[in-house]
Amino acid sequence: MHRVLIHPASYENCRVAVDRAFELFPQNISGKKIVIKPNVLRTSTAEEHIVTNPALLRAVVEKVEEMSPAEIVVGDNPGLFNYGDNENSFEKTGLMAAAKGYYKNLGNTLHHLPFHPDFMPEVGVSKEIMDADILISLPKFKTHGLTVMTGAIKNSYGILPGAQKARLHQIAGTPERFHEVIVEVFRLRVPDFFIMDAVVGMEGNGPASPELREIGLILASDNAVALDGVVARMMGVDPGRLRFLQKAKAMGLGDFASHMVQIEGEMRILPDFKLPPLGGEAITGNPAIRELMNARSRVRPQADPELCTACGSCIDHCPVSALAMRENLPVVDAGICITCFCCQEICPEKAMSLK
Ligand code: SF4
Ligand code: SF4
Repeated sequence: MHRVLIHPASYENCRVAVDRAFELFPQNISGKKIVIKPNVLRTSTAEEHIVTNPALLRAVVEKVEEMSPAEIVVGDNPGLFNYGDNENSFEKTGLMAAAKGYYKNLGNTLHHLPFHPDFMPEVGVSKEIMDADILISLPKFKTHGLTVMTGAIKNSYGILPGAQKARLHQIAGTPERFHEVIVEVFRLRVPDFFIMDAVVGMEGNGPASPELREIGLILASDNAVALDGVVARMMGVDPGRLRFLQKAKAMGLGDFASHMVQIEGEMRILPDFKLPPLGGEAITGNPAIRELMNARSRVRPQADPELCTACGSCIDHCPVSALAMRENLPVVDAGICITCFCCQEICPEKAMSLK
């Protein structure tokens, strides 16, 4: 039996809900490396409510600080395509200040893992995420045009830096397959604990819709499938109809069935909650948007001739042999490259970048 906490909260008093969440789901934090991952979709202001609110992040950081961890890291990989906006995104939303000096750019060092061969043979996950003793995920209660809702499972898509996210969007091609992708990414490192910002949520065509919804709650669980199942019900959606929840359940990652989830608090269905239009077709069925996605996910590595010493290290480390030396400069075969970052990471001269 899973448990999900539903606790009344405002941004001024959310520490009360955070305390209750840690009481219900005790975490052995003393002496451990704790990584806290808010949902930082992109550069925005806190008032747009497209990211986890800084008040919740601050409350969680302060709670964890009091429990004597060895190390705290706060970070995310904002954006589908960008590499340079990490600090900006944290600064502008107020999440940098809320991180109280524990912020780290998670896009700088990667841990490479095999992935589902239908999509990509390998992906690079932020090393800090893989090194965490305890990973705390702070999702936001929002709708999403491709997956209907974005919650605990979808927040883990941000463990992949930069263009890999765009590339997987492109390879997935349909909403159904993208549902599969987000579960495959989620299970690379299942977070230990989830505290969701549902004080101000989002309805309509999320994940960056202007249609905000005052909900006044913090939700928490140690199981993402149970938590997302509750969120789906609150939105008026049968969780059994969401492909990503079906798949996560089938893989043994948890259960959303009502009889398998004990609610601590009061669950209410939000009246007249607006779901995204067409359940993803508005995005993937739109040729103009698909073309934009395809174009933007064609980010590929390029060596700077001024810096490259033709050492060949990038060629040796490319997992799919997409690089070859031509006139003392590595050149990529764009049709083979899986945008895994290995070459950029390995280059001793910092000559390789994704453009
Ligand atoms: S060329 Fe670079 S980014 Fe592309 S697959 Fe090879 S190592 Fe990865
Ligand atoms: S690793 Fe860097 S310096 Fe070496 S060949 Fe590749 S781009 Fe050039």
